[in-house]
Amino acid sequence: MNYDAENVFAKIIRDEAPAHRVYEDDSTLAFMDIMPQVDGHTLVIPKCPAVDLFDVPAEMLTRTIAVTQRVAVAVRSAFSADGVMVAQLSGAAAGQTVFHLHFHILPRHAGIDFRLHAKDVAPDAVLAEHAERIRQALTAD
Ligand code: 5GP
Repeated sequence: MNYDAENVFAKIIRDEAPAHRVYEDDSTLAFMDIMPQVDGHTLVIPKCPAVDLFDVPAEMLTRTIAVTQRVAVAVRSAFSADGVMVAQLSGAAAGQTVFHLHFHILPRHAGIDFRLHAKDVAPDAVLAEHAERIRQALTAD
C-alpha cells in the first residue's frame, strides 16, 4: 500500500486536524486516541511518512519506540495503572484502520476489560483532562 499523505494522522502532524498532544519532538508525536479503549489510551507516531511497521526506517522506529516507552511510563503514572499494554497493528487484516504507523499505549487495571476498538468518540473535555494528566507526569519524569 502506498502512503496517503491525506490520512488523519498526517493531518494531525501538519496541524490540519485537531488532537490532544501530550509529547512532541523533531521526529515523534504522541496524542490521545479519540476513541479510547480505556481512559488514557494514547498513540505514538513517527512524523515521517510510514504506512506500518514494514514501511519505516529502523532509525525512525528506534526513536518512536523510545518515545513510546517514555510516554508509557507517564501514562502508567498518570492513571495509576497496574500494567500497560502496547499494541501495534500492521495491515487491515490485523485490524489497522489508520494507515500511518502508530503504537497504542493502554493503561490497564486488574479486572477491567478494554472497550471496543475505534468505536466511541470520547468527550473532548475528558480527552483534554487526560492529556493534561499525562503531560504533568512527563514533566515530573
Ligand atoms: P488502528 O486501528 O489503525 O490500529 O488504530 C487507529 C486508532 O486511531 C484507533 O484507536 C482510533 O480510535 C484512532 N483514531 C481514528 N481517527 C482518529 C482521529 O481523528 N484522531 C485521533 N486522535 N485518533 C483517531
